[in-house]
Amino acid sequence: MAKDSTLMDAIVSLCKRRGFVFQSSEIYGGLNGLWDYGPLGVELKRNIKDAWWRDMITTHDELDQPEGSPRKFQMVGIESSIIMHPRVWKTSGHYDLFHDQMVDCRTCKARFRADHVASSECPQKPSKCPGEHETCELTEPREFNLMFETYIGAMRDEDNKAFLRPETAQGMFVNFKNVVDSNRVKLPFGIAQQGKSCRNEITPRNFTFRTREFEQMEMEFFCHPEESPKWYAYWRDRRFKWYTDLGIDPEKLILRDHEQDELSHYSVGTADVEYAFPFCDEGEFGELEGVAHRGDFDLRSHMEGKLVRQGDELVVEQGEDGKPKYPGSGKDLTYFDDETKERFVPHVIEPAAGADRTVLAFICNAYTEETITNDKGKEEARIVMKFHPRIAPYKVGVFPLLKNKPELVAKAREVCNLLRPHMAVFYDEGGAIGRRYRRQDEAGTPYGVTIDFETLGENDSADKDTVTLRDRDTMEQTRMAISELLAFLLEKIR
Ligand code: ATP
Repeated sequence: MAKDSTLMDAIVSLCKRRGFVFQSSEIYGGLNGLWDYGPLGVELKRNIKDAWWRDMITTHDELDQPEGSPRKFQMVGIESSIIMHPRVWKTSGHYDLFHDQMVDCRTCKARFRADHVASSECPQKPSKCPGEHETCELTEPREFNLMFETYIGAMRDEDNKAFLRPETAQGMFVNFKNVVDSNRVKLPFGIAQQGKSCRNEITPRNFTFRTREFEQMEMEFFCHPEESPKWYAYWRDRRFKWYTDLGIDPEKLILRDHEQDELSHYSVGTADVEYAFPFCDEGEFGELEGVAHRGDFDLRSHMEGKLVRQGDELVVEQGEDGKPKYPGSGKDLTYFDDETKERFVPHVIEPAAGADRTVLAFICNAYTEETITNDKGKEEARIVMKFHPRIAPYKVGVFPLLKNKPELVAKAREVCNLLRPHMAVFYDEGGAIGRRYRRQDEAGTPYGVTIDFETLGENDSADKDTVTLRDRDTMEQTRMAISELLAFLLEKIR
């Protein structure tokens, strides 16, 4: 697939026009790398996050062995704070290592990520890459820590400095013992969390793909070291399937194993789930999720202190005084297996997904332009967002054929009241019915229900209390009894 900036422009424009995504603080000129979700976007994102949470936590049955899994396991959730103890980030390595290399241009004062220079644009005209204009004067790459800093309390000094979390994962590691002690969970088990993370990205870009504030959906799976390779394989495949089950085109999704030189110094294996976004060059993909085998790195760091690699070993990094550079909590984060009487530091498998990138992938995947023949036999363009019904912002549109016919409006209200406790319903009585269908096509509403004269039994009493049910994708219209509507729709949005 070639890079398609026209398609991306069309998607960005639909997102604004229909209220999926707005630029943050737009009336003040916007803020780079920050975005807001509008009425349709917030429903879509919520449904995607719910689908993840249901899959991970609420529908997980610890008494049953899921297909392909090495054995039965437990899953629980938490929600930790965005500002955590600064020592968390020192022992985790983020304080020293969460850097990108940046270069500055002394001429135009713009700043670029060193590894993005070839795909970035110099602010000078005509459009060229940084360094390509004669006047460009780029500095040597320098390290730039991506963590946002803040201060706790009234004193703005070094002792009170804190960080906005750049990932949610540390919340699970520092709560490992709390969860084991309070919930009596037994290994293997996972702790999941969804929440905001912040990274002061040097070059936020590609719409909501790379932003400075974003939401993550992460899970830390704790298991016995010997079983960890099997669990890694399980989560890697299961997470890939989650996207295709929700309708992502498998042709545009890949599961890419990291090369040895791409792996973090503690990781035994990592695979990324990547999607061919329209802004990607041919053969390129954008990361949606990383699934990593992290070994015992995280729990050991929080026990012993910041770890560094020494040959094949991970050892506590020493400061100049010969003491741990950043000491851990000193708390015992080992696990004791009652059955085998074995004590060990669990290994961790981490599927870490970005909610906003996932939303963007579902938006790009759903966006479809079609040419159709309208009622008058004329060809016209139709834009339709083909979301899986489970994640669509609205599940059904309800339309009285005419708004000035009180019996139709009353019946439509009745249908809304029947459906609303179970799903998001959009009621629309304005304009020609074809226009109303088109509006819902753009919103991605999978079904439309029209209350017409047949519903009232005016033309043929056999059709009384039936409605026209329109399918968004096929545009087929069928008649269905109101009494069957709820069960039909519930089955589709499950
Ligand atoms: P990248 O290489 O694209 O910067 P990463 O490998 O640093 O991403 P992780 O630290 O593994 O990302 O974070 C897990 C997930 O969080 C990513 O797969 C992505 O979906 C999401 N994510 C990370 N950074 C951002 C960002 N700046 N904007 C939006 N989502 C992000």
